[in-house]
Amino acid sequence: MDYQKLADRLFPHISETMEMMEEKYPERDLPEGAKVTRIAPSPTGFMHLGNLYGAMVDERLAHQSGGVFYLRIEDTDRKRLVENGVETILKVFHKFGLEFDEGATLEGDWGNYGPYTQSERASIYQTYVKALVAMGKAYPCFCTEEELAAIHEEQEKGKENFGYYGKYAVWRDRSEEEVYEELDKGTPYVIRFRSEGSIERKIRFEDQIKGKMEITENDQDVVILKSDGLPTYHFAHVIDDHLMHTTHVVRGEEWLSTLPIHLQLFDALGLKKPKYAHTAQLMKMDDGKKRKLSKRKDPELALDFYFQNGIPVKGAVEYLLTLLNSNFEDWRRANPDAPYQDFPFSTKKMSGSGALFDIDKLNDVCKNVVSRMSAEEVYEKTVQWAEEYDPDFAALLKEDPDYSKAILSIGRGGKKPRKDFGRWSEVKAYVSFFFEPLFDPKYEELPAHLSKEVIGRILSDYIQIYDPSLSQDEWFAQLKEICPSYGMTADMKAYKAAPGEYTGSVGDLSMVLRIAVCGRSQAPDLYSVMQLLGKERIIRRLDHLKEWLAAEND
Ligand code: GLU
Repeated sequence: MDYQKLADRLFPHISETMEMMEEKYPERDLPEGAKVTRIAPSPTGFMHLGNLYGAMVDERLAHQSGGVFYLRIEDTDRKRLVENGVETILKVFHKFGLEFDEGATLEGDWGNYGPYTQSERASIYQTYVKALVAMGKAYPCFCTEEELAAIHEEQEKGKENFGYYGKYAVWRDRSEEEVYEELDKGTPYVIRFRSEGSIERKIRFEDQIKGKMEITENDQDVVILKSDGLPTYHFAHVIDDHLMHTTHVVRGEEWLSTLPIHLQLFDALGLKKPKYAHTAQLMKMDDGKKRKLSKRKDPELALDFYFQNGIPVKGAVEYLLTLLNSNFEDWRRANPDAPYQDFPFSTKKMSGSGALFDIDKLNDVCKNVVSRMSAEEVYEKTVQWAEEYDPDFAALLKEDPDYSKAILSIGRGGKKPRKDFGRWSEVKAYVSFFFEPLFDPKYEELPAHLSKEVIGRILSDYIQIYDPSLSQDEWFAQLKEICPSYGMTADMKAYKAAPGEYTGSVGDLSMVLRIAVCGRSQAPDLYSVMQLLGKERIIRRLDHLKEWLAAEND
């Protein structure tokens, strides 16, 4: 077979050569040790936690080493594309604070190694496929779907390995006449790689995360160019990561099984291989058993879930770092205020066997992260979230920003800040009683051992004596002072020793006021709350509870 003639016949429009491509995309001029990484998502509209998890590894490796982190769009599977898929990818990564140095953007490509969208690189791939055909290392295959299905069926019957190999590689060694006959007829074809591998042999390989491993060679003549002229993942990966000079390919471990194909292709083309880091699957505990996170069963797999639920980006990133590197938590404890970029991230500290995702842990991390934010930041982030997912609440917060921020300041700062919420979607329930339209008191929570008569008297008296100018100590001293008029005691020891002798303690007294003012038993510091609400609102609420009690008596 004259391979050069076949190559020219298959790709008459390709005049460039591999050498010309190599010249066009020269080595990058980077300092020693700088890593070049990329993420290469498909614009299917579905972005999941795995995408983010892997992207963080890429971003850290590149930026920690003074290298380049770039975005490539893998859109060769035309059936899976959705409108705005690329926009979604860019938006999502931007929201998570992952900024690319280079790659596809909505305004076009940015960088010298493009195009960064695979569908625009058809002629580049074809240049390399043409070279492989000319070397006799690739060939056209004219099999129809039906013929391939028949091969599959035969293999199933004979309990043989599936695929296109050995005697099943029916177009591998066809005569020149047969090939040209099909070409003359215009029969559609794909280009397959002529594998010299054998499943009897193993390849030694060192993964950046999983360490040394042995994997079986590939003996399949896989498709490298589809009938639409676009490459399969295998081929595009090899060409793109070579020409864009990726030094470290970080990707999900689902690609490990096809790694032998990729290594073979690099060798066949005489190209230098990148280093690989295959990230373990994200797992979760379900009914006491570990299993993979699934798109169907686990809403938390989709990144949209994080936006909708107002999970703070900073919290999610912190949590993912705890999953990524086992020593991150210790580092965080020692460096509570340092930006996470200061943490010395390493693939060596990643688990090779699966990262256990735990939503309760995520919530805890988020609560910690939010508790360390300023009221200003919490306000901004909550408004931003609410504008998209709860516009009425956003409007309420924005009516009086100073009031909203003052509410969010309660219990903030200091050594032990409050940890009331970890998601922006939880802020509303927490602050609701500060806003008249959201005030929905749970009077049933009033201490059951207090009579309505006593509660009524407390409320009537307090309306008369509440004085917002008192300091916190004076205010509390006043509460203690009035206890005896209701048969209560301010002496907690005495109360504990003989509870039967009193109607209640000063704790019960403040609980009555808390439920009257906040409408619930769980609320931040009552004095601060009252200061913020102001006398008028407080009196109105005390009155409101009085009316409710009266109605209960009827
Ligand atoms: N497009 C592939 C994916 O979304 C990229 C895998 C890789 O990073 O090489 O899974």
